[in-house]
Amino acid sequence: MTFEEFLKKNNQPSFRLKQLNLALYKQYIEDWSEFTTWSKELREKIAQEFDFNTLKVINHQKSKKGDTEKVLFSRTKNKQLLETVIMKHKDGRNTVCVSCMVGCPVGCTFCATGTMGFISNLTSEEIAEQVLFFARKLKKEDKKVSNIVFMGMGEPLLNLDNVLESIEIFTNPEKMAMSPSRITISTSGIVKPLEKLLENDFKGRLAISLHAPTQELRESIMPIAKNNSLSELMTVVDKIIDNNNKRISFEYVLLKNINDKQRHAEKLVKLVKGKLIHLNLIPYNPVPGFTLQTSDRNQIDRFSAVLSRARVPHTVRVSMGKDIDAACGQLATKKTK
Ligand code: SF4
Repeated sequence: MTFEEFLKKNNQPSFRLKQLNLALYKQYIEDWSEFTTWSKELREKIAQEFDFNTLKVINHQKSKKGDTEKVLFSRTKNKQLLETVIMKHKDGRNTVCVSCMVGCPVGCTFCATGTMGFISNLTSEEIAEQVLFFARKLKKEDKKVSNIVFMGMGEPLLNLDNVLESIEIFTNPEKMAMSPSRITISTSGIVKPLEKLLENDFKGRLAISLHAPTQELRESIMPIAKNNSLSELMTVVDKIIDNNNKRISFEYVLLKNINDKQRHAEKLVKLVKGKLIHLNLIPYNPVPGFTLQTSDRNQIDRFSAVLSRARVPHTVRVSMGKDIDAACGQLATKKTK
């Protein structure tokens, strides 16, 4: 049942929905009992129909520097586990990295979540709840969630309807009223749903995992690339840039001796030069049990220098939360580890 259906069933006027949105998504109430705008009777009715929390906190870790926090949640309905991260940047941004699945079917070889396989999709409420959890905490410090990135567990384009529904909660002026430009969907590059996103006129930002400059190498790092070729991916990327005139981010995890050599950087230049893109180089974050290694600093600098000489806009990402396994590619619930 939706909130709208609940109100209709209880013969309530339409302004009740506005009151509900205000309390949940702007005032960030923490329990139905705090929703005193409504009568006790109506509050009790909504509490019977809707669990206030779709997720329960199992563990909450903070990095030594205090700039990153990771929360292990359990789904109220079936106790499956997922993780969410917040990064508190020095410039004041508070970025929540949300999960959209429990596990992930994509199986990228460098990613801890990939080892879990697909367990289930999260609902739009469960995705929104991860952000609301941190929004309620930040409110107490007079701060806000400034950015949301779908870079946690799961592939957003394989749970697209729920992801788009959660984005409606984040961006609707009567709900969280965030600008779409503050929301990033990160994808391993699945071509069909990317085209759907293009048709839907998605207003947020896109980050596409490239990780290799050739089809062969990409397939060896990302099994999904077998059915989503680099050439098809670049064709849809060009279409998206043409339609929206908006910069796309490419993610490139640097894996020692696998994709971090000068020849890889030169091929990468050929692939992306002249496109309206920004390349994020991500030094690999080690995962226990994986044999992959982080590129040496000198190698990263040499790789970056090739891109600089070709004037390809790029940055080398500074990892946050490595000490609590909260950095890119490190999320996997304790049970799996
Ligand atoms: S990197 Fe993303 S898409 Fe790849 S396995 Fe991990 S969670 Fe899935």
